[in-house]
Amino acid sequence: MPASLAAHRPPLPVRLWHTLRRWLGGGAQPPYIEAMDAMDAGIVLYDAQDRLVLCNRNFRALYPGLTHMLVPGRTFEEMLREAASLGMIPEAQGDLEAFIAERVRQHRNPGIPLLRQMADGRWRRITEQRLPDGSLLAFSIDVSELVAKEKALDEARTQAQQAHERLEDAIEALSDGFVLYDADDRLVVCNQRYRETYQLSAPAIRPGTRFEDILRYGLARGQYPAAEGREMEWLEERLYRHRHADQPILQELPGNRWLRIEERITRLGGVAGVRVDVTELVHREQQLKQINARLAESRAQLHAVIGTAMSAIVTLDENGQVLSANPAATTIFGWPEDELVGQPLRTLVPADAGPDPLALLTARGPEARAGRAPPQDIRARHRDGRSVTVQLALSRLDTGGQARFVALFTDLSEREAYAQALRDANAQLAHLSETDALTGIANRRRFDRALHEEWQRCGRHGLPLALLLIDVDHFKRYNDSRGHPMGDECLRAIAQILRNCVHRAGDLVARYGGEEFALLLPHTGEAEAMAIALACIEAVEQAELPHPDSPLAPHVTLSIGVASAVHVGDTRAAALLDAADSAVYAAKRAGRRRAVMAE
Ligand code: GH3
Ligand code: MG
Ligand code: MG
Repeated sequence: MPASLAAHRPPLPVRLWHTLRRWLGGGAQPPYIEAMDAMDAGIVLYDAQDRLVLCNRNFRALYPGLTHMLVPGRTFEEMLREAASLGMIPEAQGDLEAFIAERVRQHRNPGIPLLRQMADGRWRRITEQRLPDGSLLAFSIDVSELVAKEKALDEARTQAQQAHERLEDAIEALSDGFVLYDADDRLVVCNQRYRETYQLSAPAIRPGTRFEDILRYGLARGQYPAAEGREMEWLEERLYRHRHADQPILQELPGNRWLRIEERITRLGGVAGVRVDVTELVHREQQLKQINARLAESRAQLHAVIGTAMSAIVTLDENGQVLSANPAATTIFGWPEDELVGQPLRTLVPADAGPDPLALLTARGPEARAGRAPPQDIRARHRDGRSVTVQLALSRLDTGGQARFVALFTDLSEREAYAQALRDANAQLAHLSETDALTGIANRRRFDRALHEEWQRCGRHGLPLALLLIDVDHFKRYNDSRGHPMGDECLRAIAQILRNCVHRAGDLVARYGGEEFALLLPHTGEAEAMAIALACIEAVEQAELPHPDSPLAPHVTLSIGVASAVHVGDTRAAALLDAADSAVYAAKRAGRRRAVMAE
């Protein structure tokens, strides 16, 4: 029996009560009996001894098989027992005596109204009331409709409750965050996942809280990194999207976490939202973007390298046909790229080019796995038929799919030209580093090296080495009288004259320093050396280079120290130099313009 119905206790109709009082006072009068019979309630009156006083038609109709019992004087218990035994009270089935005892007890001390189902399935509410004179008045009204409604309501409530529980169960079971806001944008329900997703906002995520307030709470706590510095603008945008709820939103959470938000307006005007954690997806996308950027960059770099490389770079398919070629390929082989593409590599590398460089293309062994053929020098073919010496390095590309090859041709003729140029430049450099800039003859550096080498060489052959140290007389005065530029010119002229004084291949004329020169004469003894020294003096005098301030002559004159020695034992080249130097000094002291033989 629905509890709410039993608890409901309608007050006795006051007017009816007064009417009954009047019957009992003045004896039951037929008009009242009729009135009672007309009532839609079962009415029955017992005296203080529980004996039936009267009952109306409605009451009698309730117990159709009991008519013989419904006569004044019958006790309540007798009638109850009879009705129960006749099966008129379904409630009594089972333990009849216990039912009767309980019912009689209730009857004696009426309390809350009883709800009883009759044999025909209809429900009655029985209200018993003890009157002041000890008699008992009972009403029984049909409440079947009420009970049915109540039952339906109860059932509906139970179903609603179950549905709610099922819904809650379901949304809790979702792996994604779920939330429902009502038409006033207040939170109705959300799952744990939703609260966990918005950890910083969690305290605000309670049923009844407005969506905007939850947002504001989170904003104040850094829940939305994208809002930083533009909170109000962000809030407006977010609310707009929420109200329109027409497209998914990608939302960032602290710690580079990402959500995909799907919101939909419900039939009742609320908003249902799902939050899917797409962090991994977004991270992968971010990585992909970085990789693509790097890829594009390295592709551009590669392109630039290939485009500007001096070597020809040719890619080949698995059949050895050209897929692409760089500008250097055109330079080396004469083929424009578009004409080369599609041709077999054999066009560039004829069969007689050398050891088969294409073996790698068909190789199956460890060489193929290594993916690289050792570079080899071959004679490749230019478009115009001539052969070009190149180094070919062939490698297999690890593309994962079809085999691809890269042929790298380095033009060796060009390389050879470079090497020659380098050698020339080096020789030039070496020459310059040993040449005197003013006179163009060997400098002191070259002289020192030659002295040492010739000293060794002559020593090995037991031959004499002669050295002439030549000093221009009063050259300071020359400069002073004719000027330094003329002095330079003079030194150049003397160098030229001295050069003409030697004739053998091994002879060396060098500028020793300032206005001093040196002649290194291999295989030359003292006499011959002295003769050359005199010839030098003579040649310079013959040239009559004007020297207006010389006390010796009107022209430039020389003083020469001559030394010649054979390298024996541990004698050193420096000794020869010292000897020649002393001899120059001696010549100066002796009055200049002469040659002196070292002692
Ligand atoms: P001496 O007869 O004793 O050899 O007298 P000298 O003046 O020739 O000798 P000294 O050593 O006193 O002076 C050498 C001079 O040579 C001084 C210097 O100005 C000059 N001289 C040295 N190198 C150069 C040069 O490259 N160009 C010119 N114009 N003069 C030079
Ligand atoms: Mg000098
Ligand atoms: Mg001098």
